[in-house]
Amino acid sequence: MDFTVSPRIEEFRSRIAAFVGDRLLPLEADRSSYDAHENIRLDLADRLRAEAKAEGLWCLQLKPETGGQGLGKVGMAVCYEAMNRSIFGPVIFNSAAPDDGNMMVLEAVGTEAQKARWLKPIVEGKVRSAFAMTEPMPGGGSDPSMMMTRAEKRGDAYVISGRKWFITGAAEAQHFILLARTSDDPRKGLTAFLFDRDQPGWTIERRIDIMGPEEHGGHCELVFDGLEVPAGNVLMKEGDGLKVTQIRLGPARLTHCMRWLGLSRRCVEIARAYAAERTGFGRRLADRESIQMMLGDLALKIEIGRLLVMKAAWALDQGSFARKEVSMAKVHVANLLHQAADTAIQINGARGYSKDTVLEWIYRYARQARLVDGADEVHKMVLNTHLDAEENGFWTWQAA
Ligand SMILES: Cc1cc2nc3c(=O)[nH]c(=O)nc-3n(C[C@H](O)[C@H](O)[C@H](O)COP(=O)(O)OP(=O)(O)OC[C@H]3O[C@@H](n4cnc5c(N)ncnc54)[C@H](O)[C@@H]3O)c2cc1C
Repeated sequence: MDFTVSPRIEEFRSRIAAFVGDRLLPLEADRSSYDAHENIRLDLADRLRAEAKAEGLWCLQLKPETGGQGLGKVGMAVCYEAMNRSIFGPVIFNSAAPDDGNMMVLEAVGTEAQKARWLKPIVEGKVRSAFAMTEPMPGGGSDPSMMMTRAEKRGDAYVISGRKWFITGAAEAQHFILLARTSDDPRKGLTAFLFDRDQPGWTIERRIDIMGPEEHGGHCELVFDGLEVPAGNVLMKEGDGLKVTQIRLGPARLTHCMRWLGLSRRCVEIARAYAAERTGFGRRLADRESIQMMLGDLALKIEIGRLLVMKAAWALDQGSFARKEVSMAKVHVANLLHQAADTAIQINGARGYSKDTVLEWIYRYARQARLVDGADEVHKMVLNTHLDAEENGFWTWQAA
C-alpha cells in the first residue's frame, strides 16, 4: 500500500491551502461576508469563484475534457480536505454539494447532448443545480422503494406529479435531476429526469427553516403538478433511476466525508490555539492532561477517518462501487465531525458558544451529517448485509 500522493496533487493541495488561508479565512471572520442564511454572500462568492477559476483551481474533480483537472478520488480526498479548512471553501472551487455530485453523475452517464445542455453551464459556473429525490411522509426517504412521485409516459414525453422536500439548493438552481416512479417494478421502477427551472408544471412551495447554516438556495419543498419532460431528458434509460442514484450517491457521500475531515481539522486548529494561550489555576490549558487526551483522541479519529476515506477513494478509482468502504467512511466521519465541533467548543469555553469563531456554525451544521445521504443506521444495515453475504470474505485483502 502506497500512501504517497503525486507531486501534481500536492501542488494543487498547497495552492488551495494558500487560497483558503489568504483569501477565505479573513472573509469568514467578517460578519458582513455572510448572507441571510449564514453562507458566503453570493456577490462575494461569484468574485472568488472567478478568481479560483482563473487560477485553475476549479472543478478539479472532473475530467480535463469536461473542464476539470482529472484528479481522481484520491487526489480529491487530499484537496477537498484542504478546501474545507474554511466553511466557505468548497463552493468557491465548485466542489460543494449538490453541484459536485450532480456534475460527476452527468459526466459519468450523460449523453454528449445532455452534457452540452445540462452539465456545461454548471461547470462554467453559470448556473447551479439540485438533486430531488427525498419525499415527505408517506413517500420515499431512507427507503427509495417508497417513492410516490409519478412520471406518466404520454407520447414522447413524461408528465410528472408529486412532492419532494429537503432539496438542497433548489431556490438558486436552474438545472434539476429528479427521481420519479415510472413503474411498480421493485428494481426498475424509478427513472431519473432532467428539467430546467423555467419549465412550467412545478413550484417551490417553501424554503424549509433548518437548525444549521444553509447552502445557497436552501432546502426546499417542491410540488410537481404536470411538469412535462421530453424523453430525451431521461438520464440513462427509463427504469435506471436506482442505478443513477447509486452512481451519484457513492462518490457524493465520500466527497462529503473529504470536506468534513477539513472541518474537523479546523475544529482542532481553533481548540489548540486557544488551549495554547489560555491559562487557569496556574497552568496553560494545553499543559493539562485532560485537554491533551481530548485533542489526542480527535487526532486519532481524524486519522482513522482519513484512512477510511482514502481506502474508499482508492477503491472508487479502481472502478469499484466501494459500497462498504463508503458506508464505513460516512458513518465514522459524520460522527467525528460532530465530536470535533463539540470538543472544540468545550475547550474554548464560553468563546466556543459565541459567534466569535466558526465552531458554533460547524456544530449546528454537523448534526445533518448523520442524516443526509443515508442515516447512520441505514449504512450500518448495509454493512451488516455485506457481512451476511460475504461472511469471512468481508475482511479479504485484495491480492495484487
Ligand atoms: C440538510 C439536508 C439536506 C438534504 N438534501 C437533500 C437533497 O438535496 N436531495 C434529496 O433528495 N434529499 C435531501 N435530503 C434528505 C436526506 O437525504 C434524507 O433526510 C435521508 O435520506 C433520510 O430520509 P428521511 O429524512 O425521510 O428519514 P426516514 O427515512 O424517515 O428515517 C428516519 C430515521 O429512521 C432511522 N432509520 C431509517 N431507516 C432505518 C433502518 N433501516 N434501520 C434503523 N433505523 C432506520 C434513522 O435514524 C433515520 O434518521 C437532505 C436532508 C437534510 C437534513
